Amino acid sequence: MLRHFPLAILLAGLAACTTVPASPPAPPAADCAAPCFLLMTERSTPEQREAARGVLLAEFARIGIAAEARPYATDEVFPGTQRGLTGANVVATLPATDAGSTRHIVIAAHYDTVPGSPGVDDNGSGVEIVLEVARRLATLEARSATVHFVMLDQEELGLVGARVDAARWRASGVPLESMHNIDMVGWDSDNDGVIEFDSNSAELTALYQEVAAGLPVSLLVTTYPNTDHEAYRQAGFTVASVSQEFEDGSENPAYHSPADTAVQRPYYEGTRDLLLGVFERLVAE
Ligand SMILES: [Zn+2]
Repeated sequence: MLRHFPLAILLAGLAACTTVPASPPAPPAADCAAPCFLLMTERSTPEQREAARGVLLAEFARIGIAAEARPYATDEVFPGTQRGLTGANVVATLPATDAGSTRHIVIAAHYDTVPGSPGVDDNGSGVEIVLEVARRLATLEARSATVHFVMLDQEELGLVGARVDAARWRASGVPLESMHNIDMVGWDSDNDGVIEFDSNSAELTALYQEVAAGLPVSLLVTTYPNTDHEAYRQAGFTVASVSQEFEDGSENPAYHSPADTAVQRPYYEGTRDLLLGVFERLVAE
């Protein structure tokens, strides 16, 4: 997730700062309860991000969902995106079992990190939930929608992979029913189970609230522009986003630091179960 200040200021700051700080030595691996997250080491350099994509592609192959890396260069026209950047989103597509279905839904998380951080919470946690939903939906006998599992690149540089993917959906003419974003869902300092939720759809807000009612989590319905769903919202799509609670200061104190090495599993699992429940309902419609 980006820091909470306007994107324009962030982009101006990035444009002014052309040197990349040297990365500190990798911190020790997090001591997490099994199963550990797939992504738990820094993913900011081109080499680190390419290695992460390899891990994600291998995992989708293991799950049995066709996946590909989709490289981009922002010198192509992607509205709102810095020029001169290259990266790649990883996209896995699980087709509807109903051959006549025209429903398409995206569930996404960014896989890049800021320099120097292993990014277990930001955003290894969101990546893991996307994978958990993929594993669950792949086992269903009937699915009424095609689900696209999208691992987005360069969120930390200004929602870059998301702007690219949103522009591609817009250009494709394929109707996208909704985009669901998961960013930083592993920390809850005051242990109140609150998840920040942002959506431009009353219907999706009601669905998430209904599913949350059966879980040890609750939704704080609010608006935040500093993560990937904002790119799709700006492109005119229906979106929903979940993240840990920032508004009361109970976010991860290790945010964007080398100490982002662990999550609080009960809170993570609450958010995971929320997304599993929402997606089981969405594809059963
Ligand atoms: Zn971040």
